Amino acid sequence: MKLYSTKDRNQEYSLKEAVLQGLAPDGGLFMPTEIPSFPPDYWYSFYDKSFKEVCLDISRLLLSDALTDSDIQYILSTLNFEAPLTTISDNISVLELFHGPSLAFKDFGAQFMAQLMSLFNRDEKGDLTILVATSGDTGGAVASGFYDVEGINVVILYPQGKVSELQARQLTTFGKNIQALEVQGTFDDCQQLVKQAFVDESLKHKVRLSSANSINIARLIPQSFYYFGAFAQLDKEHPPITVSVPSGNFGNLTAGLMAKRMGLPIDIFIASTNINDVVPQYLETSEYQPKPSVETLSNAMDVGSPSNFERMQELYGFTWNHIKQDIIGYSFDDDQTIRTIKSVYEQHKYILDPHAAVAFLGMKQFLQTHQHHHGIILATAHYSKFKSTIDLALEFDTDLHPSLANLLDKTQQKEIISSEYEQLKSILLDKYAVN
Ligand SMILES: *Cc1c(COP(=O)(O)O)cnc(C)c1O
Repeated sequence: MKLYSTKDRNQEYSLKEAVLQGLAPDGGLFMPTEIPSFPPDYWYSFYDKSFKEVCLDISRLLLSDALTDSDIQYILSTLNFEAPLTTISDNISVLELFHGPSLAFKDFGAQFMAQLMSLFNRDEKGDLTILVATSGDTGGAVASGFYDVEGINVVILYPQGKVSELQARQLTTFGKNIQALEVQGTFDDCQQLVKQAFVDESLKHKVRLSSANSINIARLIPQSFYYFGAFAQLDKEHPPITVSVPSGNFGNLTAGLMAKRMGLPIDIFIASTNINDVVPQYLETSEYQPKPSVETLSNAMDVGSPSNFERMQELYGFTWNHIKQDIIGYSFDDDQTIRTIKSVYEQHKYILDPHAAVAFLGMKQFLQTHQHHHGIILATAHYSKFKSTIDLALEFDTDLHPSLANLLDKTQQKEIISSEYEQLKSILLDKYAVN
């Protein structure tokens, strides 16, 4: 896989450069110069494959020019959780993406990226230090993805009092190479601190800094695996398939579009959002108007300016008509989300988290006019991560998922810092300087 920057098509980058840099030097996003596809009928063989075999096939297709086969196999050996497809009604199945360590789909991206970075850093001098700011969800996936990974340290900044008790514990109970820093400030202060570190030449001279945010191409690659994995679990004869993706920064949906380019016959994608609806609005009107985000119950999708929108545009040559052929957008509010969690539980005895509930709503709306389709909704988090919302919707006290309950017994390790940059800088220099 070779990559270009969305700001300059003529400049080519290796996978190693793209993964270690995250963002292109000119500020553009990395995109593959070419998305290879499987031979026309090859993908039919997926119907007989395990998830592991599916992942291996796709990785070989995409990465064999950049990695040896044994490296590919090694990276995949660490992705050891499944993405089961559960049928909840005649025409709707749920693809459960929450069986990883942090109980959210971001585990796929984080685990894969951690291994890839470690591999690419092998030949370099000194540890890599990943600096991330989190408002909650991403941090847990990054922490577990990079935990104990060789040659890499992670420093996670999160705002004091602004993340839930369980979210904080998902960051602070690792120890070893994962350093949690509780910042006396807001999430914006955390992001500001990270930004300041990345432009501080005197720091970058001594500490090998890198980022792990959602725009890294290494996170998109493994997210295409489970779209194929979903087909592998269908009967060979099936109606046209529509996938509803609960979306915020649109990384997950972009990975699905890439899977389609590789030859996976997904008919339509549904971009399901909460009231942060810039993409559904764009699909309806052809006007793209980013705006400040609004808080909702499906808070991992509270994004007003989706970072992967540019990648979606690239895939369709910036042509609204073309995008419209593959993607339909719908948005829903918190009331509809709550009522859906309750009604799906009552009708199907299945508990959706607030994000998957938004995806379900999108699918329901689509199926009203497309009765002959089969719908797959992506369940991006386990409902227990949003226990208070779920208990409110269902009107009973749900059990806490065992891996979250376990966190309550673990010891927390964190340092508290002010939002002054100098304090962060001296910690980074003390602990992670390689020169
Ligand atoms: C991050 C996240 C999303 C949004 O995914 P994008 O790739 O940013 O569109 C949806 N649901 C959950 C639970 C998430 O954590």
